[in-house]
Amino acid sequence: MLDSALTRLDRAATFLNVDPDVIEKLKFPKETLSVRLMIRMDDGSRRSFLAWRCRYDDTRGPTKGGIRFHPQASLDEVNTLAFWMTFKCAVMNLPYGGAKGAVQVDPRELSKAELERLSRAYVQAFASMIGPDRDIPAPDVYTNAMIMGWMADEYGSIRNEPCPAVITGKPIALGGSLGRDDATARGGYYLVKHLERELGLEGGPKRVAIQGFGNAGMHIARLLSADGYRIVAISDSRGAIHDPDGIDVAQAIAAKSAGGSVVALAGRGGIREISGDELIGVECDLLVPAALEDQIHTGNAHQVKARTVLELANGPVSADADPILAENGVVVLPDILANAGGVTVSYFEWVQNRQGYYWRQDEIHERLKTIMEAEGEKIWQLGKEHGTDLRTASYIHALSRLANAIEAHGTQKFFTA
Ligand code: NAD
Repeated sequence: MLDSALTRLDRAATFLNVDPDVIEKLKFPKETLSVRLMIRMDDGSRRSFLAWRCRYDDTRGPTKGGIRFHPQASLDEVNTLAFWMTFKCAVMNLPYGGAKGAVQVDPRELSKAELERLSRAYVQAFASMIGPDRDIPAPDVYTNAMIMGWMADEYGSIRNEPCPAVITGKPIALGGSLGRDDATARGGYYLVKHLERELGLEGGPKRVAIQGFGNAGMHIARLLSADGYRIVAISDSRGAIHDPDGIDVAQAIAAKSAGGSVVALAGRGGIREISGDELIGVECDLLVPAALEDQIHTGNAHQVKARTVLELANGPVSADADPILAENGVVVLPDILANAGGVTVSYFEWVQNRQGYYWRQDEIHERLKTIMEAEGEKIWQLGKEHGTDLRTASYIHALSRLANAIEAHGTQKFFTA
């Protein structure tokens, strides 16, 4: 995965005159720690879980990135996600480098008490690596606000003082920020709205298919449907549903919140069950992958009917599928821009924790909108200027900021002049 991600760095570098030092610095992670977490299970036995944290690059500031609990999590995935976070923070001009963490576990198999012990064990193992000025975790797939709260509490116990700024995505009552819960989707929504005319999404109800119905997928469904978009297909890990006349998002949220699957809606009205792969090829105007990596690949990229793909998930389109989508005229709003609303409001949470002063929700929405529109516009213009897809434009944009920072320490030319 990391090798594939690095091809995007190489491609962006061909458009910029960056010093070789920059590539040397960015092609490897700075620091990755692998550990085995041991926890006591409810039945008295002990079980161990593989866990990682990667700080990819901290040239632009302390590193930032979520923690994922997933049975297929791997070291390569963590390093790659940390690489993407480095570029995402640079795209948004946040004063952060990139990081990521994971535990190889299916959290649905754990009791609530076991999940709390695992979350606290993660912080015990990585306490020397994280910190409000060093590395600041956040939620990701199958982790949530309550887990962030346990982790912040554990870190405070180790440091012997409360330290809310060590982690973001916390419950509001524990120093979380208003607007963090839907920030990832809201950032993507502001981006789509800003580029609506250029993307041909204006006029008449446009049809949307959403893969994944967790934090990112559920909120984008809610925001777009409230704005007149028609949600025609939704999936989660257990299956997918389709109705060309539109799915009631409130009902889908209710089915999911009750601990079930969106598939429970199949059979109601015109809703029928389809396979997860069929969702990728559903007739729609906007396709929103909001689940996991590599969901659109060489095997199914040619089936995409949507004219626009909004990547709320990280890495949902494999590198070799990019040219297929481009040839078919599909515009991809790339992950490092499209889902950057999450880390941006995480940044706002960290700022609020450090200043001890909390902002109103409308202030948060306004600040997020301003940044999404400004960086989205720069990337749209860069794409036009260089004649590239928006992913390459985003990497060019991020790489120029990273290169400025790395080169500010001096380059070979400086030291040999
Ligand atoms: P989540 O755990 O809240 O939800 C994940 C959803 O994906 C669940 O509904 C799950 O059922 C579904 N899913 C899993 N495997 C699937 C499959 N094969 N097909 C269809 N659905 C499947 O996670 P999330 O926070 O919404 O994250 C989703 C994606 O968004 C991830 O790639 C994550 O890295 C990315 N992301 C999240 C945030 C954030 O703030 N939450 C920020 C940036 C990027």
